[in-house]
Amino acid sequence: MNRSTTIMTVAGVTVGGVLAYAVYFDYKRRTDANFRKQLRKEKKRVKQSQTPSESGQTATGGVDANDLRSALESVRNEEVPPGPEEKEQYFMKQVGMGEQLCAKGPVYHLPAAMCFYRALRVYPSPVELIVIYEKTVPPPVFQLVMELTNLDVSNDPSLAEGKIGPLSDGEDESSPLRGPPSEASSQEWDKVTDPGSQTPALTKDEIGYYTFFPPKAMNVAVETVNVPDGKGGTMSKKVLVVTKDFKAGEVIYQEDPIVAVLDADLQGKGTHCSYCLRQIQNDPIRPESDRLHSVYCSSDCLTQHKAHSQTLLFTLESPLPAAIAPEMGDTLRKERENAQKAFVEYLIQTKRAAPELVARFVARQVSAETAKMLPRGILPGVASEPVLTDGGEYSLYDHLERLRYLEVKPADNETHVLKDVLQTALPGLEQFLTEERHATFVGKMSYNSYGVYFGEGREDKPETAARPENTEKTRTPCGTSKQIGTGFYAVSSYISHNCAPSAEPVFPTGTAQLQLVATCALQKGDEITVAYVDVSQHSGETLEVARRRRRMELARGWRFACSCRRCAEEGLEGEIEEGLEGEIEEGGDESRVEDIVTRAEGS
Ligand SMILES: [Zn+2]
Ligand SMILES: [Zn+2]
Repeated sequence: MNRSTTIMTVAGVTVGGVLAYAVYFDYKRRTDANFRKQLRKEKKRVKQSQTPSESGQTATGGVDANDLRSALESVRNEEVPPGPEEKEQYFMKQVGMGEQLCAKGPVYHLPAAMCFYRALRVYPSPVELIVIYEKTVPPPVFQLVMELTNLDVSNDPSLAEGKIGPLSDGEDESSPLRGPPSEASSQEWDKVTDPGSQTPALTKDEIGYYTFFPPKAMNVAVETVNVPDGKGGTMSKKVLVVTKDFKAGEVIYQEDPIVAVLDADLQGKGTHCSYCLRQIQNDPIRPESDRLHSVYCSSDCLTQHKAHSQTLLFTLESPLPAAIAPEMGDTLRKERENAQKAFVEYLIQTKRAAPELVARFVARQVSAETAKMLPRGILPGVASEPVLTDGGEYSLYDHLERLRYLEVKPADNETHVLKDVLQTALPGLEQFLTEERHATFVGKMSYNSYGVYFGEGREDKPETAARPENTEKTRTPCGTSKQIGTGFYAVSSYISHNCAPSAEPVFPTGTAQLQLVATCALQKGDEITVAYVDVSQHSGETLEVARRRRRMELARGWRFACSCRRCAEEGLEGEIEEGLEGEIEEGGDESRVEDIVTRAEGS
């Protein structure tokens, strides 16, 4: 292996680690209450320190210029680990320490900044790392890291071109991984080295997510209401309301899925597009290599699917741009191939949509984070991102985090097979997917997803062998058995069930794009509801049988006893609800929100 290949390999391996780190850090910063509190305090402190001080200290979190210089001096005198593996370990260790020190308070800011600066010295692509730091490191510490960088660059003529510290022997000068490699990166560099251009972090939390989400143009808003908890009390729940009047039959909004998958029996058949789920009329487009045997209705669908998740999960291509893609030896390639085979086998055997939706969601988040991290224009195939807010910088996790879910326990090896796929695609990425987090994601996909159906729905879906209580359910007014696929939608996830619903999800474009249609007149402020299950009374069914059937399906799929008006009106006085007691605890609602959401809203 020649030297420049070695550097490329290090870059690839490290980028995987850094992506995992960025994704993880971003998640942690939003889910750990203490961490958030700390950040808020920091912010206040920074504001105060920006008022003119008489002590002669710099605005940099009260760190003296001399302290800064001697800190730089001491880091400079440290040896940089020699090999690629040592470098990566050193990098992870420094970043981890920096993170811990940040949380300890202002006294530790300089030591924390030194850690991040050490990591920067060994990272092959400093500009990109600084972009990550800007988003993840508390502002006062980030400012110190930038002070150290500026001091270093201005003091050392050999580094004046933006190269940070000795990287590696035999570095290729033309390598795109060093310093600001191109016009675009130079601008990025200027932007991040100019502290005046820093955007304050966490503004979104101060202003409030629900003022940005969903976009006003969708004619709906999220509101908190108190609903019966089925145990004689009430619980607080987020619901969707219309922000203007609608007549019956009018379209309230349309929404593209964040992720959508075909039903297991249609996958690889070539009848439906694997990306938009459209029924294919002519010859489908078949990609050269694709473990799921996906087909597409158009080259645009192929490009989008690959960029979002397909490349990472089901091909041996690199999800990163060629310039920094890790050199993949035969062993690694084989490992990746085996991991994907095992995952595909698992998906085929389980026949459930949720595990694949979760995998695609994680992959799409990685694709979005990669796009943010790398200078524009060097990503292969640009993934389009959904517009889910009016401004504010929100990641896909921000949308997932606030949704209700059911506690589920994924099958024994489910987390493992997905972890292997992530790890062999981008080493380090697997660290992000703990068993617990994976379980929560699966629970959210199961609870919130909609069935995609065309017209009256399909009639040819194979009967499942699973017991009714284990059968996967999606929110489909004509019944899950009529759908061709499953989609996860950020806004529509907020719609509650009602057995006499005020709206209906339909798919008139023949794709997974959902349109929400009012089924009765709605006035501004009215709650939108849909039927999660088939609530019609079938021929030959008595009112009581129909009522029991739908309530049983709701209890099995979403673990709640419906307390809607229709259920109450059709209920018999003193009736004993056969079976329902065995399905859900105390006739209540078992769905929940993550602790962090409850805490954030309580404070
Ligand atoms: Zn398509
Ligand atoms: Zn009901």
